[in-house]
Amino acid sequence: MLELVIKGATVIDGSGVEGAALDVGIEGDRIAMISPLIEVESAEILNATGLTLTPGFIDVHSHDDFHVLIEPEVRHNIFQGITTAIVGNCGFGAAGSDAGKVQMKAINEPSAELPDWTGYAGYMEEVDKTSPVLNVAALIGHHTARREAMDGVENRPPTDAELAAMLANVAEGMEAGAVGMSTGLVYEPGRYAATEEIVSLAQVVGKHDGLYVSHMRDEGGGLLDSVRETLQIGETSGTGVEISHHKAVGRANWGKVVQSLEMIEDAVAQGRDVTADQYPYTARSTMLFALVQNGTFSLGEGGAMGKSSPEEVLLCSVPGQPEFEGRTLQSFVEEFDLPGEDAAKKLLSDISSDILVAAFGMDEGDVRMVMAHSSTMIGTDGLDRGSKPHPRAWGTYPRVLGKYVREEGVISLENAIYKMTHMPATKFNIANRGLIKEGYFADLTLFDPETVIDGATYENSRVGPQGLLHVIVNGQFAVRDGKHSGSRSGRTVRMGQM
Ligand SMILES: [Zn+2]
Repeated sequence: MLELVIKGATVIDGSGVEGAALDVGIEGDRIAMISPLIEVESAEILNATGLTLTPGFIDVHSHDDFHVLIEPEVRHNIFQGITTAIVGNCGFGAAGSDAGKVQMKAINEPSAELPDWTGYAGYMEEVDKTSPVLNVAALIGHHTARREAMDGVENRPPTDAELAAMLANVAEGMEAGAVGMSTGLVYEPGRYAATEEIVSLAQVVGKHDGLYVSHMRDEGGGLLDSVRETLQIGETSGTGVEISHHKAVGRANWGKVVQSLEMIEDAVAQGRDVTADQYPYTARSTMLFALVQNGTFSLGEGGAMGKSSPEEVLLCSVPGQPEFEGRTLQSFVEEFDLPGEDAAKKLLSDISSDILVAAFGMDEGDVRMVMAHSSTMIGTDGLDRGSKPHPRAWGTYPRVLGKYVREEGVISLENAIYKMTHMPATKFNIANRGLIKEGYFADLTLFDPETVIDGATYENSRVGPQGLLHVIVNGQFAVRDGKHSGSRSGRTVRMGQM
């Protein structure tokens, strides 16, 4: 007897092919049967007429390494239909635990009660012990490895002993089942690493068939040089490459994605494994400190993180001063009677060094072009921190499905689902997920294609979507009729693990 049969939905299986009317039967944590009409007895039948059934979404760009331990309901992810989060992006990894906690302080809220763990094996054990609502795969974070090996932020190359410690960190992570290593070369301390340092570490990743995932050194005027560096690191180390949140930031750089996409196409034509991810918004979100450090307000064209004017910067999270959240940097320029950079520095020194902001700076045409490109997957890059987080934390996937698929026709529904499911599962070496297929894990999302849409805005961002009704993780309802079930059936996903 089956435990659950989902009847009457249009099944889009994740492979990119057109949807079909199929019944799907679930037994335990797996998809047991797919047929035009399932008549086998089942404990429960879900009538899904009018809904679209897809594999659960795989968020290739998550920052919820600590969130899954602190708040295992992970509401901002699960309501979007995400069933697997790939954490550890932009260089921010979770092991060693102390270095990870310090490193994560600016983008996460590691509570004092967090346990210590040893290595990525220990981190994954903690995740399995906690059992969050969704599955978790991990990238090794370069910042964390560097900070731990060099005992803090150091603007110099590592000594031989320090490099050996970093190599050991990466090897431990890969042996524990991490899917690759990430860098964030605009942030501390990753920005102080030369290409050779990264190549040495990535070689260990390549030996284990892992990926090199990078928030590149420059997404502004130096975008194309950064793509070149990233491709070179992949080639020299023998790893596949994932370019994080592919974009060109700062008005002066709009349109450069035409060339960066061509560079990816050329690499792919040479047989290289190169892809990218994207969140569907024209504002980025990051630490105010990093924008200042990278010259966003002081350099003519805005430096490595591109230019944003103070009117374009919204405060998302201000530890100790939540009433500042939602204000623009411009409002402080006026209040303090200081130029943008000085106003930002005053906030960082007087209020908190861990202020998170959303900052406009991308072109909508670029966003559409990158989304439509065959190299692009979807990822949230979400940080559900403060009262006004960037809406991508709550809205990314339904926004793609509602705005970019249904309303604007930028990509087809089948292609969007492919970019959210099978494409990331294949790229990140996640076995038996990302397709609706007999024997695969029952990670499933059900939505109404006529109404699905994001609810999160910059003004009111901690809001879930409309029209996304049910989410199933490993055979259990995580969201039912739009409500969190309280179930926590997620588990760690190790590279290649069947
Ligand atoms: Zn990043």
